[in-house]
Amino acid sequence: MSESDEHLCRLCDRPLGSPRLTSKHHLVPMSKGGKKGKTVELHNICHRKIHAALTNGEIAKNYTTIEQLQKHEEIQKFILWVSKKQPEFYDRSRDSLARKSKLDWKRRAH
Ligand SMILES: [Zn+2]
Ligand SMILES: [Zn+2]
Repeated sequence: MSESDEHLCRLCDRPLGSPRLTSKHHLVPMSKGGKKGKTVELHNICHRKIHAALTNGEIAKNYTTIEQLQKHEEIQKFILWVSKKQPEFYDRSRDSLARKSKLDWKRRAH
C-alpha cells in the first residue's frame, strides 16, 4: 500500500481507503456548467458535507476550489472533527444507521 497524495482525500487529507467510501466532486457543479470540469475524489462523508453546507449556486459562485471550500466556516469545523476519525468511520456509521432505520421501519410497519 503506497500513500501517495493521489490517495488522500483533498478535503480532509486522510487516506481515501476503500472506493466504496469515496465519490467524485465536481468543483463546478454539473448543473452550473461543470459537467466536463475538474473533479476531485473525496470521502462520501466529506462530499456530503459540502453539499449539506452549500447550494450548487453558492459553490459555483464562491467555492470552486478545495481551498475555498476548506475556508467555509462549517466545513472547516467538519474537517477538524472528521480528521480525528478513522477513514472507515462513515461506512460503519452508515451501516449501523441503515440497520437501525430498517429496524425502526419494521417496528413501525407492524
Ligand atoms: Zn475526506
Ligand atoms: Zn459534489
